[in-house]
Amino acid sequence: MSAKVENVVIVGTGCAGLTAAIYTARANLQPLVLEGILPGGQLTTTSEVENFPGFPEGIDGFQLMQNLRQQAEKFGTRYESGSVTGLDVAQWPYTLKLADREIRAKTVIVATGASPRLTGIPGEKELYGGKGVTTCATCDGAFYRQMDVAVIGGGDSAAEEALFLTRFASKVYLVHRRDTLRASKIMADRATSHPKIQPVWDSVPVSIDGVAEGAVSGLRVRHVKTGAESVLPVKGIFVAIGHVPNTAPFTAAVDTDEQGYFVTTAHSQVKTRTPGVYVAGDCADHHYRQAITAAGMGCQAAIEAERWLAEKGG
Ligand code: NAP
Repeated sequence: MSAKVENVVIVGTGCAGLTAAIYTARANLQPLVLEGILPGGQLTTTSEVENFPGFPEGIDGFQLMQNLRQQAEKFGTRYESGSVTGLDVAQWPYTLKLADREIRAKTVIVATGASPRLTGIPGEKELYGGKGVTTCATCDGAFYRQMDVAVIGGGDSAAEEALFLTRFASKVYLVHRRDTLRASKIMADRATSHPKIQPVWDSVPVSIDGVAEGAVSGLRVRHVKTGAESVLPVKGIFVAIGHVPNTAPFTAAVDTDEQGYFVTTAHSQVKTRTPGVYVAGDCADHHYRQAITAAGMGCQAAIEAERWLAEKGG
């Protein structure tokens, strides 16, 4: 193990992690940011971000994350790639365990975000990736020009994915298990009034056809009220049914709730029961889950880390 002890290690490079980096770097703490498998986090898979304050024309999600990264770097943030497998808080400074190394840190800010949830229906795993099942319209939508596709889900993500896919697909089925969308009114109205989007209400996905051929050829759905099953003749299936928090490597150091989200102490969104360990963003928030709220939590975590280090004598 290296003898070096970091002031602050930030795990994750989404809005929460990079905002924490900007603040701790400006506090002259020279933070080390660990980048995982999706640098930039979920916003890099979003197209236009219309609700981040300060961008009246909207901003491309990837561009926003590039901007945050550069802003943090300008003040002295260092980046390393590596996925954390564990956090040992038995002794201070704490030890972050990675596959190939260990890093010692006085404070840790965990901002690992959340990953897309999958349905678990037969055919999904077999056809995931380049075979027709995906969780990212921005990444894969262009492969489905002039084809029929289905989006599963009823939240803002599902509405956004469906709308994005209308640029390419001939028809977009929006398969939702209830008869009203959970999405915000503006997104729901845009989606349901779009001529290319056909809502499939009160329907749950049952299985995906095409496993033998190695490519999606249909989505079997069941109407929850009548029990009737039918097959939507689609070539692409976009799963948008929410997310699972990426908290598993940290459960020995930080409490989690029954859904796996980090639990913080009373009166704080970011403090955990372990002094010097803070959490921020979607890994600790299943209520708001916005880019701006994640950034806000990153800011809070950075200020807490800075104050705690100052109290400890740096
Ligand atoms: P979400 O709001 O949790 O919605 C998940 C959707 O998937 C719900 O409609 C849910 O149905 C459905 N669902 C969950 N499990 C399912 C299953 N096993 N089978 C079938 N359907 C299932 O997740 P999200 O859409 O990813 O949004 C997450 C957060 O990000 C939200 O706060 C959202 O507002 C925000 N967001 C905002 C924007 C934007 O403002 N532009 C864009 C994307 C996301 P029920 O409705 O029946 O529960």
